[in-house]
Amino acid sequence: MTGDSTGNFHLLHRTCKLVVLLCFLHISVTLVFYVRSLDIRFAFTQNQQSHRPGVSTGSPGVSTGGPGASTGGPGNQRERAPEVKKAEEPEEKLQKCPETSPILVGPLRVEFNTPVNLEQIKKDNPNLQAGGRFRPAGCEALAKVAIIIPFRKRDEHLKYWLYYLHPILQRQQLDYGVYVINQDGDVIFNRAKLLNIGYTEALKDYDYDCFVFSDVDLIPMDDRNTYKCFSQPRHLSVSMDKFGFRLPYNQYFGGVSSMSKEQFLKINGFPNNYWGWGGEDDDIFNRLASKGMTISRPSGEVGKCRMIRHDRDKKNEPNPQRFDRIAHTRETMYKDGINSLSYSVVKTERFDLFTKITVDVGKP
Ligand code: BGC
Repeated sequence: MTGDSTGNFHLLHRTCKLVVLLCFLHISVTLVFYVRSLDIRFAFTQNQQSHRPGVSTGSPGVSTGGPGASTGGPGNQRERAPEVKKAEEPEEKLQKCPETSPILVGPLRVEFNTPVNLEQIKKDNPNLQAGGRFRPAGCEALAKVAIIIPFRKRDEHLKYWLYYLHPILQRQQLDYGVYVINQDGDVIFNRAKLLNIGYTEALKDYDYDCFVFSDVDLIPMDDRNTYKCFSQPRHLSVSMDKFGFRLPYNQYFGGVSSMSKEQFLKINGFPNNYWGWGGEDDDIFNRLASKGMTISRPSGEVGKCRMIRHDRDKKNEPNPQRFDRIAHTRETMYKDGINSLSYSVVKTERFDLFTKITVDVGKP
């Protein structure tokens, strides 16, 4: 080898070493950046998972950050921010209403000499919602009560009922709805079947857990007689003026009563085959007794009520079969009741003060 070629070889050798070094440096730097990017991706995934309470915060609907989310500048973004908070935080819940409403007034004066009109009743009850619905504003009601009124051609009585009952029920802080179940046509009246229909129809409207069954002509004289349900079926009209403010007999369960959904279903609802006046309330009592239930009642003082005087309705004559039927409740109650109910709805009307459901109940 000549001196020249040795010099060339050294130069080439150094250049190669420099190139290898540069390559090594390049690979190292690439590796460092790659590892760092892995870290960031891992942390991002973890963060996403810890913020997912069923609703993905990454979804376009709730994204506040991305450009796609903002459609109209900062003002719009400020408006969207609370929306995200809402999805993540549970809705603020009202406190339960107290066991005894603090706004009750006790004994009431009830009379039927002064006429009442629907417009005035509407004005007097501005917090009612369509169909005669109400729920207290400041607290969560203890019960969701459907009030079922069997009805036919008693409009004057209904006005008094609405006039007196709406303010009472609101003071009782109930979440309630009023259902007037109107028997269509002129076939003989069937009170218990109308009550079964009221139960069924009201449940299509709302998740009621308590049902008050009230004659249209009975008005409580004390708002401490709360129209709700109790651990046993409740008889509410315990001291009527008609009976000298006493129970006519211990088993009496007529007029106004209440039952939870569970109590009602336990007795298969009410009988459907009592046509005309009388006996159906005794049948209901027999059903309750046969299931080991007892009757809960307010005191005679709190349970005072007035009945609007009236002549006996046409097509509601006393039912001559009632004594025989009452004697056999325990045998018939499993096949005659809510499980065998059949009817058709003719018309549903949502008035300001009540929901009126006109029904065809068939015939005997
Ligand atoms: C009837 C009931 C009625 C009660 C009070 C009984 O003889 O069977 O239906 O509610 O009398 O009038």
